[in-house]
Amino acid sequence: MTTTLDLTRKVQAPAKPLNLAGLTREQLKAALIDGEVCAPDKAKMRAQQMWNWMHHFGVTDFDRMTDIGKDVRARLSERYEVGRPEVVERQVSTDGTRKWLIRTAPGIEIETVYIPGVGRAGALCVSSQVGCTLNCTFCHTGTQALVRNLTAAEILAQVQVAKDDLGEWPTDKDDRLLSNVVFMGMGEPLYNLPAVADAMEVISDNEGIALSRRRITVSTSGVVPELQALGERTQAMLAISLHATNDELRDVLVPLNKKYPIAELMTAIRAYPGLSNARRVTFEYVMLKGINDSPAEARALVALLTGIPAKINLIPFNPWPGSPYECSSWSTIETFAAIINKAGYASPIRTPRGRDILAACGQLKSESEKIRASQRRKLA
Ligand code: SAH
Ligand code: SF4
Repeated sequence: MTTTLDLTRKVQAPAKPLNLAGLTREQLKAALIDGEVCAPDKAKMRAQQMWNWMHHFGVTDFDRMTDIGKDVRARLSERYEVGRPEVVERQVSTDGTRKWLIRTAPGIEIETVYIPGVGRAGALCVSSQVGCTLNCTFCHTGTQALVRNLTAAEILAQVQVAKDDLGEWPTDKDDRLLSNVVFMGMGEPLYNLPAVADAMEVISDNEGIALSRRRITVSTSGVVPELQALGERTQAMLAISLHATNDELRDVLVPLNKKYPIAELMTAIRAYPGLSNARRVTFEYVMLKGINDSPAEARALVALLTGIPAKINLIPFNPWPGSPYECSSWSTIETFAAIINKAGYASPIRTPRGRDILAACGQLKSESEKIRASQRRKLA
């Protein structure tokens, strides 16, 4: 008898095992039951043990989970994984800023930046998408097409890799270096809210990384219909990329404004759950020479924010090759800041950080995007 080889069937690459370190508690329990790692009545206890190892001690190997029996560990490693994605590149700036390029899948490379001295001790700037569907004219990421939304595990991996590198396992609440997380990397987080919310659930869990939700900030260009859900689901601190005080200019700088104009955006912000003097909204305002930086615009900004508990973050524009704008002069930025300060709003000027390793706001993302695009072509 002869056997015929069926060549019509496509050979599929084996699917990567599910990484348990990227799941919420509920998903972890379900995975343990689905994978027949333990009986359903034991799943909660097992998940608790594993949670502690993965998110408090940061272990990346089932064999280090010593209070779990050998047979269970063997079943776990047959079906699942618990490691980190590959760190393709790591750079440290002279000012202490660290940048990692993390590859989670072929063509999916994510840049994450740790900035010491921001927030209580130091802030991690994470990405929510590779590329962006929006085309803000001052942002290099906006010139790149969306590759895809990141999964919750990929968002979480950025925090885990940073904690590995900073030596922050187990988490020590008092003197941690990574005290804040800001969703200000690539992409629009409100177009990927379910994954952002799941990642936040894990990051803020008290028996793990335990970052208070008040130290997690989500920055959006103003996706009005998602603001309420963001507040209700995540209790995140809100940052709005405003950049202009009238629709005519904002339509150009942040084209999403044509869909959700300033008045609608302001109404949604006023209704943001939990807004108070202790939980103020941050308004981000990029300083563009001769475009949005006049004293009249500073006064218009103050008028616009009347009654909103707010602080204003002035961001010196970081140019990129071919960018149509220049950064305002230092004295213009200071004059602008003084007007806002006088009206009673804190208005820190964001000092560009990590310029020597291309880690400044807007810059680094564009560089890594280029790497990603060329790599994707190679892989295609
Ligand atoms: N998509 C979200 C979050 C990522 S952008 C948003 O737009 O809010 C994070 C911040 O960097 C935003 O405030 C954005 O306006 C700002 N930014 C983008 N490109 C920049 C550049 N070239 N110079 C300075 N700030 C920039
Ligand atoms: Fe996207 Fe934000 Fe850049 Fe606009 S500023 S293109 S929303 S990443």
